[in-house]
Formats: sequence, structure tokens, C-alpha cells
Amino acid sequence: MRELKFYTGNAVPLEMHKVRVVQKLNLLPIDDRLRAIKEAGNNTFLLRNKDTFLDMLTDSGVNAMSDLQLSAMMVADDSYAGSATFSKLESKLCEIFGTKYVLPAHQGRACEHIISRVFVKKGDIVPTNYHFTTTKAHICLQGGTVLEIHHPEALIVESTNPFKGNMSPELLKKTIADYGAERISFVRLEAGTNLIGGQPFSLANLKEIYNICKQHNLLLVLDASLLADNLYFIKVREPAYQDVDIRKIAREIADHADIIYFSARKLGHARGGGICTSNHELYMKMRELVPLFEGFLTYGGMSVREMEAITVGLDETMDYDMISQGPLFIEYMVNELKQRGVPVVTPAGGLGCHLNAMEFVSHIPQSEYPSGALGAALFIAGGIRGMERGTLSEDREADGSEHYSNMELLRLAVPRRVFTLSQIKYAIDRIVWLYDNRQLIGGLKFVEEPKVLRFFMGKLAPVSDWQEKLVAKFKADFGDSL
Ligand SMILES: *Cc1c(COP(=O)(O)O)cnc(C)c1O
Repeated sequence: MRELKFYTGNAVPLEMHKVRVVQKLNLLPIDDRLRAIKEAGNNTFLLRNKDTFLDMLTDSGVNAMSDLQLSAMMVADDSYAGSATFSKLESKLCEIFGTKYVLPAHQGRACEHIISRVFVKKGDIVPTNYHFTTTKAHICLQGGTVLEIHHPEALIVESTNPFKGNMSPELLKKTIADYGAERISFVRLEAGTNLIGGQPFSLANLKEIYNICKQHNLLLVLDASLLADNLYFIKVREPAYQDVDIRKIAREIADHADIIYFSARKLGHARGGGICTSNHELYMKMRELVPLFEGFLTYGGMSVREMEAITVGLDETMDYDMISQGPLFIEYMVNELKQRGVPVVTPAGGLGCHLNAMEFVSHIPQSEYPSGALGAALFIAGGIRGMERGTLSEDREADGSEHYSNMELLRLAVPRRVFTLSQIKYAIDRIVWLYDNRQLIGGLKFVEEPKVLRFFMGKLAPVSDWQEKLVAKFKADFGDSL
């Protein structure tokens, strides 16, 4: 299954599913795309889906569901307390992770809220392989500080290291020595490290980090939102696990964490979240907050239908065909772009293809948000909606100065089982066109800037009339109607 070779040409990823429900898409003419992005304040979060052709904003809550997931939704047990649907979800999580207790939450950040409230005290440090936006916000809200102690190659955009999501054991030991274990709330490892391009950690690294945690009596908290991708990468990139069943790998990961939480908008292909642990004391501490912020302990803000879908989705995640589809499509996209000289994050990761805006539009200074500008330009060029993952996604420092991001990426998420290969090819073609015309792309400036998580709602304007010039060049190359 892994080696799909074509008799008539180069290997391409092969869909191991068929499409049985479709949604009509619109491809607006370029003048309308320019109008739409202007109305959205050059922020792809503020675009309307009806104006978007390929929605590559995120893989959150938009992965295709299976027939089995949809049918399970019809038999959901609607009750506030003691729902059989929750019991099913709980048993499935305990079966996969081998943990004893499950707390439901309405999505991933809700789990982060609960975990941060319970474990993070003012002045605490949370070492992590890399932060995630909502995680950092919740830790900071409690007065904690996130400390990135990533692999030395994590921020090298073009690399051949298969596990750029690893945490540095040396830096973890140093952090413990520098700050003292008492000041560390927990050590957080993120599977499929989102913000550096969906890069995985290896099981060997997880074990090493876990052992260091145990030597110092520290908790290891695993963010398993992108676990499906990480499972796939351990299976194909970590020689010791090539013949090990996905379920066994999942179990081995879970055995090396004290608390596992996840966004079921990603893991489980539905919408929800949960926290798993085998430690009764930790469970009791977190449990108090669930009815307060999420809902009763047998739904935690999720609809019973979604819980049914997550249960089936989790089971399907233990299947190689299911978890390989996303990474294989992404690898195809990354390889095709790389061959044409477009700067992308390598090796290909999970969740999406990441354009390196720092190099793509190297003429735009970080103060003018290169990845945000590239995102606006790609929407104009192709109706493709990506997500800025750079300086715009960072909030300003307390003194109002910009916090320049280590990386300037435009993430083009590839939701699982949603796009066809010809749609991926279309995206590749428009990106290559944009790369050939990159000098036409200019910067952005804020016109409305929220203080917290500004990338969600902020509005920006181009620093010049570069967008009109880009449209004129597009029309010269493609005509008015595309
Ligand atoms: C999406 C995501 C979250 C937050 O989950 P939501 O369901 O969107 O709140 C947390 N961590 C990681 C790694 C994620 O990818």
C-alpha cells in the first residue's frame, strides 16, 4: 500500500476511499476575489467560505467524515447525564490509550484552559517542543511562561531531519537545573508540532523526555490533537516501528504521558475534545472544572452526535490507509513545489503544506507581515485560503513592540479526504505562478489590531497598490474570467 508505483508514470498518492457526498464550490473571477480579500481586511480568517475555492485555512473540524461516522450519529443517545454515547467514547479512548479516566471538553483549547487553570501558577514555566497559539494564550493567562526547548533543527525550514518535532533532552535538563522542578507546571509535548509545519516527534524522543520528567517528578502532558499524523510518521520514519501496528504505537505513546488531551476537530475527524489520564488525583483536580466551564461530565459541551462520530473516527484513525492520506497528499504537494524552486518546509509534515514566506517574499520586511501578504496574494491568484503562521500570529510584547516570529509560514492545510488530486494540482499551479511573479507582492499594515490573538479578527491594508498590479499581471497571463 505504501509503495504505489504507476506503470505509466510517476507515483501519485492514491485515495483509499470514494466520495459519496459532495459540496459545490465557487471559483470567483479574479476581480471578485480582490474585492473579497479587501472586504476581509486581508485576513483570510475573515473571508466568507462562499467566496473561497479551496479552503486550506485549517484541518480543524473540516476533515471528511466516513459513512460509518455519519451513521453512528443517528443512533446517539441523547441524555444529559449517563449517556450511553459518552460511555462508548470513554471506552474507545481507554481502549486506544490504555488510560482510566476521560474528561470531555468542547474542543482542544477548552482542555488547555482546564489543564492550565489546574497546573499553572503565576511565575511558572512550561517547557514545550513548540508552542501552539491557544496553548500559549491559556498558559500566559494563568501567569505562566512557555519555554521552547525544541530540537536544534526545528526552525531550519529546509531540512532532512525526519523528527523536527523532537524536544531537546539537553535543554530540558538545563531548564530543570536553571529554574528548579518546583517552578515547572508540566512538560508539554505536542504531537505533529503544528506551528513549525506539522513536524513529528519520535517515540524514542518521547521516551527519553518522559524518563527525564520521571527523574524530576514532573508531569508530561501530551497534546495529541495531531496524533494521527505523528503515528503515521513514526510508522514510516522510525525504523524500530516500521513493522509495529498503529494501535501498538498509539498505546506506547500513551504509556509515556501522564495527561493526554486532544482536539477532536482533528483527532477523530469530528468536533469536540477530551482529556485522558490514569492518575486519579490529577483526574479529580481537573474534573471539578468540567461542569463549571464545559458541561456535565458525560458531554462536556459536545453534542451526543459528535461524540458518536469521534468514537468511530478514533477507531478509524488506527488504520494506515486513513492516516496516510493526508501526509501523502502533502508530500506530493511539497515535492512538486520544491522541484519548481518554491521554498517550502521540508521534510513534508502533517496537516498541510507550508510555504516559507521569509524566502518566497524575502523583499517584504517582517514588520509588513510577509506570510500575511503571501496569504492575501494567493487568495487573489487562486481563491485559495491559507493561514498566516508568522509574526501576525504573534501578539505584541507588553511594551507594544512587535514580537518577530522565528518563521514566516503560509500554511496550506490539507484536510483529510476532502480535496482531490486535481485540486491539489491546481493549488500547485497557482503557487508556482505566484512565485514567478513574487516581486509584485507587497506588504501589509494593520488598520484594526486586537490586543489578544490578533490574527483571528485583525484587519490589514496593503502598503501600496501592489494587489491591483498583481491582478493586472494575472489577467495578462490567464484572461479575465479565471
Ligand atoms: C487545533 C489545535 C489545538 C486547539 O484545538 P481547538 O479544537 O481548535 O480548540 C491545540 N493544539 C494543537 C496542536 C492543535 O492543532
